[in-house]
Amino acid sequence: MSKYIFVTGGVVSSLGKGIAAASIGKMLESSGLTVTIIKCDPYINVDPGTMNPFQHGEVYVTDDGAETDLDLGHYERFTNAKFTKNNNITTGKVYHSVITRERRGDYLGKTVQVIPHITDEIKNGIHRGAEQSKVDVVIVEIGGTVGDIESLPFLEAIRQFRIDVGRDYAINVHVTLVPYIKSAGEIKTKPTQHSVGRLREIGIMPDIILCRAEKKLPKDACEKIALFCNVDKDAVITAVDAKSIYEVPLNFQKEGLGKLISRLLKLRYNDTPLLDWKRRVVNKQKKPKKEIKIAVVGKYITLQDAYKSIYEALAHGAIANDVKLSIAKVDSEDIEKFGPLKYLKDVKGILIPGGFGSRGIEGKIKAARYARVNNIPFLGICLGMQTAVIEFARGVCKMDDANSSEFNKMTEFPVINLIEEQKNIKDKGATMRLGAYKCKIQQKTKAYNAYKNEVISERHRHRYEFNNTFMEELKKKGMIFSGINPERELVEIVELKKHPWYVACQFHPEFKSKPDKAHPLFADFISAALKVSSGKKKK
Ligand code: GLN
Repeated sequence: MSKYIFVTGGVVSSLGKGIAAASIGKMLESSGLTVTIIKCDPYINVDPGTMNPFQHGEVYVTDDGAETDLDLGHYERFTNAKFTKNNNITTGKVYHSVITRERRGDYLGKTVQVIPHITDEIKNGIHRGAEQSKVDVVIVEIGGTVGDIESLPFLEAIRQFRIDVGRDYAINVHVTLVPYIKSAGEIKTKPTQHSVGRLREIGIMPDIILCRAEKKLPKDACEKIALFCNVDKDAVITAVDAKSIYEVPLNFQKEGLGKLISRLLKLRYNDTPLLDWKRRVVNKQKKPKKEIKIAVVGKYITLQDAYKSIYEALAHGAIANDVKLSIAKVDSEDIEKFGPLKYLKDVKGILIPGGFGSRGIEGKIKAARYARVNNIPFLGICLGMQTAVIEFARGVCKMDDANSSEFNKMTEFPVINLIEEQKNIKDKGATMRLGAYKCKIQQKTKAYNAYKNEVISERHRHRYEFNNTFMEELKKKGMIFSGINPERELVEIVELKKHPWYVACQFHPEFKSKPDKAHPLFADFISAALKVSSGKKKK
């Protein structure tokens, strides 16, 4: 039977609970245990797919096409677990399922209530996630912060869950903040005490307290927290601020978290140091030979979380090439207003990520043109590919008002268009082309060079597609259609003949990149950026 680790958070949000859960998973996995991680999100949206990235950050997509929380991206980058729609439980999903059953009459006349019906549904969701992967340890992260009204049913559910499976089969890890007050020269344990107090009010006793802090907490502070929060002295662990998220599993291990968890859950755990991870990921980030500057041109660049997987995949590409990455985050609306030169003149590569809506699109088109005419390595992803196609049609094929019908329904040249099956869809939730699709790659192309494979599978999240009516014309002018979905003839990858490295894909390669196994397109993009000389004249 699986053992369970519940991870809750207190004091403030953004403490890195997701990274903590992923790091615990990494530590346990490296000792030979199998793990999975489930994220519970207390918001009422069924999934984050309908949310603005400014509200929620990136939407992470799994192979089975679930639009999920970005923490699943961390879980997948840190561990080898397989993630599906069952790894993300939201209040919206839980209520949707309970209300559907109520309408069917499944509750046989009972009053349907938060306890037990909603809490039962949450527990069933956790069991579903656990059963699908049959692992030694299931880590469950509860989103939000203790004290939020909306997370109460989840906390009640995990309280009950521990009783259901038996106390020895589950532990609670609480992540809190221990701030350092500069003017007083002191660290403060009170917020942690209050947060644990709130947890205890609802019947949850933490077994381990993970204290986010700028520096390692002194022994007396840990002892004080242990005393006031009713945990063992060695169960107060500092989660010290790290330069890179990939150091966190190493730090946790050094702090004895692996041994502690295995003692509490009676796991067959040997505390083998994460040497491989250290060598292949952490040390490489510390000792890079050179630095490379890559621009990400998007419209959500002010929010770090909006392009989370893109930034991580770029970092992986840099690790694979032994370079230090510096990212210029460029707002496409600025390029629209002031032109590309000001923002892109010193970058060695340009990446245009996915996105929706027309705001900033002309700026992206200018950035794609700048990369094309100046021979700057370019990676376009999803909307980034659509942008590259529009730019090529306008700039090279003389289709002056070429566009995507997402932005201009009246264009004479709808080079990006809706396919038939998308045309009559009215609902916004979970109706895009989502999840893993196959792609066949043409040999002797940049894409083939990167993947070294003829058939690949990548994840999608979009409605619009390349319009095949224009394929021949664009081909004639030098666009290569190097990746095609074999079942439906949909264009997956395009590239340019006369360019050192200009590749754009309709799918999202960033979701499958790992720190110790950079995605081939990201690795080759960074490698091309390194190779292309920087001293060229810019037009
Ligand atoms: N808006 C475009 C579409 O729906 C691109 C989507 C994306 O970049 N994820 O097709």
